[in-house]
Amino acid sequence: MDIETVVIAGSGPAGLTAAIYAARAGLKPLVLEGLTPGGQLTVSETVENYPGFPDSLSGSELMSRFRKQAERFDVRFQRGSIQEISRIENQYNLRIKNNTTRTKSLIIATGAQARRLNVPGEKVFYGRGISGCVTCDGAFFKDKKVIVVGGGNTAMHNALYLTRFAKKITILHRRTRFKADIYEVEKAKKSTEIEWMVPWVITDITGDETLKGITARNIETGEICTLECDGIFVAIGHQPKTEVFSSIVKTNQDGYIIVAPNSTVTTAPGIFACGDVCDPVYRQAAVAVGHGCMAAMDAQEYLTREE
Ligand code: NAP
Repeated sequence: MDIETVVIAGSGPAGLTAAIYAARAGLKPLVLEGLTPGGQLTVSETVENYPGFPDSLSGSELMSRFRKQAERFDVRFQRGSIQEISRIENQYNLRIKNNTTRTKSLIIATGAQARRLNVPGEKVFYGRGISGCVTCDGAFFKDKKVIVVGGGNTAMHNALYLTRFAKKITILHRRTRFKADIYEVEKAKKSTEIEWMVPWVITDITGDETLKGITARNIETGEICTLECDGIFVAIGHQPKTEVFSSIVKTNQDGYIIVAPNSTVTTAPGIFACGDVCDPVYRQAAVAVGHGCMAAMDAQEYLTREE
């Protein structure tokens, strides 16, 4: 069996940056692209906050540029995800479909998936009016009407952040009680731009070329209503893609991989994590890129020590 030096799981900004750095360090990385080559950024129609692109570009265009740069340094790509991982002395066996790949080190950059509402219209308008990131997309909604779905701290923060741009923000939450800290709810309640719909759930998202509105149902009374809006921010939590790794590296209670402070070193020797998979706080491409660079450098140092 051939033994890989570095396998990188994930092909978003963190994974591909790790690949570029590892390849330039002569480590001949293999990137497992996962189910969504390019990662979650590929659903964004416009990216305006990634430095170096003053005219903005689409998330898929940005990620195809990352890939082109990685290919220039002969990074190898393989479709698929790791289904099982086991440790064999100082190396790891990775089961990918029906094959097993052995590697000396692994960089986990599998990201975190923003939870979805799973209602009709969501797929159509995701990235075209529906977003999971106010920092990325809030500025597109200047003087518009937006809905923030969720009742946690993120929903409160998102709604308050959006008051800088939107003319009307509705927090729509499925319960009358909030998971958010009382202090955060009170802060949002003080804002005159924020309206509340509780306890309501969205049942349908509608539009034509652009998103136009929602249909919602009151959980207590069963009442149905429609509401016009230009954007929806879904703030119902994130799910890091770590299930397969949780037996081998330590994760926190929400499933995020724990790394040593100021590094990408996990609790398993030779395994490093970078990007959203270990970042419940910032969740930005620019941050993931820095983490990816760190992971490649940490892996290189580990491999040199092991030799
Ligand atoms: P969260 O605290 O888990 O809240 C998720 C919210 O989404 C809950 O209100 C939940 O409602 C709702 N929800 C879940 N699934 C839903 C669905 N399918 N349809 C409709 N609503 C749904 O997530 P978060 O707000 O992203 O926060 C994540 C973590 O980061 C938390 O620990 C939070 O405290 C922390 N955080 C902290 C700060 C801060 O500055 N301190 C800021 C942001 C986030 P239910 O209550 O009905 O389940």
